[in-house]
Amino acid sequence: MPIFDFAYEEPDVGYSKIRLHFNENLFLPEEYYREIMPSVEPQELRYYTDPNNKRLAEKIEIFHGLPQGSVVVTAGADEGLRLAMQLSVHIDGGLAIVEPTYGMAHVIARQVGLKPTVITYNSDLSLDIDRVIKSGVSSVYICSPNNPTAHLVKEVEELVARFSGLVILDSAYAEFAGLWTPKLYEYGNVIEIRTFSKAWGLAGARVGYIVAERKLAQSLRVLSPPHPISSFSAKVIENALEKGRPYVERSIQALSVVREWVLSKIKLEKYYGPVNFVTVRVTKAESIASRLESEGFVVRVLGGKPLCSSCIRFTLAPMAIMEKFIL
Ligand code: PMP
Repeated sequence: MPIFDFAYEEPDVGYSKIRLHFNENLFLPEEYYREIMPSVEPQELRYYTDPNNKRLAEKIEIFHGLPQGSVVVTAGADEGLRLAMQLSVHIDGGLAIVEPTYGMAHVIARQVGLKPTVITYNSDLSLDIDRVIKSGVSSVYICSPNNPTAHLVKEVEELVARFSGLVILDSAYAEFAGLWTPKLYEYGNVIEIRTFSKAWGLAGARVGYIVAERKLAQSLRVLSPPHPISSFSAKVIENALEKGRPYVERSIQALSVVREWVLSKIKLEKYYGPVNFVTVRVTKAESIASRLESEGFVVRVLGGKPLCSSCIRFTLAPMAIMEKFIL
């Protein structure tokens, strides 16, 4: 039996505590969820969904005005990452991960058998593209806006143009930054990963998608399970695309007001940007997190990450919660 050293274990905190550790959108009203809640016919549960959830993929393409065949539906962005990294295994030649970043990128890379090369942002969070190129890898993972530093990676387009390998661009938080429509799919080497878990507030539905140039998208479809998401989730997303955008936009506006207030209150060194979380450097991250937990708030401790050691990250929540959290 193999023994793995990259296990990912998540404590089950349920709903009894205020969850500020997963960057869900906490600004959407219940009315939004009632509005998009689907009803399904027995046959939609009896039978498998259409292959590759193609109908939903087409609706996403139409929503964004993307070319036909450029969207691949996935079970959350995490599955999108898995497909992209599996493709990287097939391409062969190694994967670089630009750190500090989303912890699961490393875990998923290891799950598919890669041993990623780590490239670290400069201390001002700029990216040295030459280091990526010189590392000799054939794929690179980069997240923008980045989790946990919240910054928009300004070198992404230059990286895509100069790096001849595959760029796995994790845009899980893009909508918060006003980047609704993926733009880099025309480059044949970009896999953009998106999700309905963050700005769209639908983490429990487990739906994400990949946007890539058609042939690249088709390669990823080949690596995907034939029915990646349930008919129920597909309907939730169809309804959200049809009716949800005004709610999501209003929630992003409300969030940005709270973000300004929170930033004005926190005097510690912090990473922030156009997203729904803030990362703060503290002296004793673990003990602060457990004190917060005893007060009913769950936050993320970012132990051991380059540039982010001794940091905690928390999701921004409506003012009534933030007032209790910060004060
Ligand atoms: N990418 C990033 C940067 C994330 O922060 C997350 C969620 N924490 C994901 C991907 C995974 O999202 P999903 O729920 O769509 O699997």
